[in-house]
Amino acid sequence: MLFRNLANWCNLSTPLGLALALATCPRLRFRDGLIWGESSRIPLPAGAITVGSVVLIPRQTLADLERGNPQVAAHEAQHAWQYAYCLGLPFIPIYLAMMGWSWLRTGDRAAACFFEVQAGLEAGGYRAVPTRPWRETWRALGGLVRCGGDAQNARPAAGREGDAAA
Ligand SMILES: [Zn+2]
Repeated sequence: MLFRNLANWCNLSTPLGLALALATCPRLRFRDGLIWGESSRIPLPAGAITVGSVVLIPRQTLADLERGNPQVAAHEAQHAWQYAYCLGLPFIPIYLAMMGWSWLRTGDRAAACFFEVQAGLEAGGYRAVPTRPWRETWRALGGLVRCGGDAQNARPAAGREGDAAA
């Protein structure tokens, strides 16, 4: 734990996490070798996000989070180790790439993400999802492209609220 935290200070991931915590969390606490930023105002849909050896918890406390998932602290501690062995900030783009890969293969952002699987899907509040055939992936990608195209070409519907003043 000491090695992990020292590595994450030196690789700058913990200083980044601490800066985010100080900017968005009204309260910090220390537990299990990690810094926990509670009730973070960071606008993320996740239950918690780890940056170095700092864990940001949006909109709730660690106690609230553990009431819903008692294993979450162990899960986030694994992410802190992942920052250490990825030499810090490179973890972030690698994680995002793995998340994209997971979505392609399963339709779920975590189920085939190496880092989430290693940290424990269930402990992170995720579910196991089987991989899908590539043809389903291509179909899903096609749907995204069509949705994006439709959104760009969409015109406001007549009579919608807000159009009346125009
Ligand atoms: Zn996780």
